[in-house]
Amino acid sequence: MKIAVYPGTFDPVTNGHLDIISRSSKLFDKVIIGVLHNSAKTPLFSVDERVNILKKATENISNVEVRSFEGLSVDFAKACKANVIVRGLRLITDFEYELQMAQTNRKLAPDVDTTFLFTSLQYSYLSSTTVKEVAEFGGDISEFVPGFVADAIHEKLKK
Ligand code: ADP
Repeated sequence: MKIAVYPGTFDPVTNGHLDIISRSSKLFDKVIIGVLHNSAKTPLFSVDERVNILKKATENISNVEVRSFEGLSVDFAKACKANVIVRGLRLITDFEYELQMAQTNRKLAPDVDTTFLFTSLQYSYLSSTTVKEVAEFGGDISEFVPGFVADAIHEKLKK
């Protein structure tokens, strides 16, 4: 069975992430989304909230699972018995960082390989950070995230 992990912060999940998840679910028998608990960052949503949002957003894809993790992506992959890490590539600017991380991960765990999926064109500009910024200044985010995620963002920003 080909198991892949898709690690990230997902604060919160966007339609760009969901596109990568849906496409990778067709390439692998199982895709385990890893929601990173990173104590160095202050996310808008807690790790449990991000996990629950992702569970709801992917409930129609039967071979996708959502878990949280701390530490190295390669260790998370091993714990999931996965030998593939999926990452999404948007612009050239993603490339340098992703290449460096893939090569570091390969050094740490030669049995775990990184696969990149290029973003679908219509999502190439999309990031969790810009979605939060647009929402904060009252812009329309309905094309960037699922409706219930937009509601959750607005609710959070009210507090
Ligand atoms: P991280 O903090 O690890 O970069 P993110 O949640 O920002 O976590 O992103 C997780 C993965 O999803 C990364 O590989 C990132 O490049 C990819 N990604 C983010 N936004 C998009 C998008 N709009 N289209 C395709 N891939 C994306």
